[in-house]
Amino acid sequence: MNSCGMCKEQAKKTHRGNAHEYLAAMDEPRVFRGQQGRGYREQDYRCEVCRAKFTWSSNRNDLAWTLWEG
Ligand SMILES: [Zn+2]
Repeated sequence: MNSCGMCKEQAKKTHRGNAHEYLAAMDEPRVFRGQQGRGYREQDYRCEVCRAKFTWSSNRNDLAWTLWEG
């Protein structure tokens, strides 16, 4: 994996952590409707430095920031 230092740090962030300054949002957020307020959102990002792709999720059962290799 050749992700840049900022992306390595990004993968450790929590749900409250913001995208680093070279992460650009891709497409529109995906909204998942859940029962009793359990809906959540996902947003894809791509790093403009190393081209790493992240998915941010507000689902507390998932990692906040998932780094996709390749
Ligand atoms: Zn990066």
